[in-house]
Amino acid sequence: MKVTEHIAGATKPLVSFEILPPVKGKSIDNIFSNLDPLMEFKPSFINVTYHRAEQTYKRRADGSFDRVEIRKRPGTVGICAALMNRYRVDAVPHLICGGFAKEETENALIDLHYLGIDNVLALRGDSPGNEKFFAPHPQGHRYAVELVQQVVNLNEGHYLEEDIVDAGKTDFCIGVAGYPEKHFEAANMELDLHYLQQKIAAGADYITTQMFFNNNSYFKYLENCKNANIHVPIVPGLKPLTNKKQLSMIPSIFHVDIPQEFTNEMLKCKTDADCELVGTEWLIAQCRELLAKKVPVLHFYTLGKPKVVYNVVKAIL
Ligand code: FAD
Repeated sequence: MKVTEHIAGATKPLVSFEILPPVKGKSIDNIFSNLDPLMEFKPSFINVTYHRAEQTYKRRADGSFDRVEIRKRPGTVGICAALMNRYRVDAVPHLICGGFAKEETENALIDLHYLGIDNVLALRGDSPGNEKFFAPHPQGHRYAVELVQQVVNLNEGHYLEEDIVDAGKTDFCIGVAGYPEKHFEAANMELDLHYLQQKIAAGADYITTQMFFNNNSYFKYLENCKNANIHVPIVPGLKPLTNKKQLSMIPSIFHVDIPQEFTNEMLKCKTDADCELVGTEWLIAQCRELLAKKVPVLHFYTLGKPKVVYNVVKAIL
């Protein structure tokens, strides 16, 4: 079932979760043991992130180095299939432009279609850790809007090979990313919203936001989107904070603010357990306010903190 169908048919607040594939070599059982307790809340869908390959250097016996490409977290498509099989839940694989030729993307979409997956979240992806700016694959896409267009083309039965005629159509529901505090590369919010509107005009069905810790930035974003002629559902992305290191790490990685009041409470904590309690309470308060404003779904970035997310959802539903 499509994310937009879940939202349209909802009679009570919906929840969804986002997970990362395990690091290569680690067992999928870890994912299951994290998700098993959370399934009590009957999530409408579970997102699975996608991770591009990174360049790294391996030392040879003679002391010189080989440049090798390693995908540290493969398995997005397989995990989606495993989640559907184990939990009978809708999976939302993320697809990224970075590192992929259009042909590879098309083949991935065909795999997803054969697996009965109805949704994709279409993203650009970031530059690899060792590069400052995003560079597209020579045969790939530069912006997420182009990836949205490719999925729409396939939904209309248009494949990259133009001589494929009478081709089967896919029927993906397409999500895209939005940034209540602006994407860090955008010159200003107006321009960022302009490009977001292009993704919707190209055929995206809904938006999932970057995490935010101050609901006012999300409420303001809803207003801004409306003014920018964006009228699709905007799913809020939520993340629990559980330690002091995150107070500097999260803003540097995700380019988001952590409110002063929250920061002060975290700084008073003596242990990580205290921080976890403060982070849990903050997220519960955020969720209650969002529910009061009738958000379509609460989407949790579980990222290895299933217990905190469990406690939050238990407290609010
Ligand atoms: P785009 O929409 O392409 O925007 C990128 C930048 O370019 C923005 O500044 C935008 O304003 C600008 N822009 C857009 N279109 C144009 C245009 N036509 N001309 C000029 N400028 C333009 N990353 C991963 O690698 N894997 C994941 O699984 C993943 N999941 C994510 C899930 C969510 C909900 C979010 C919010 C982010 C996720 N990311 C993921 C991170 C994401 O890939 C990065 O934030 C990336 O830098 C931007 O992706 P985007 O899809 O928003 O890009």
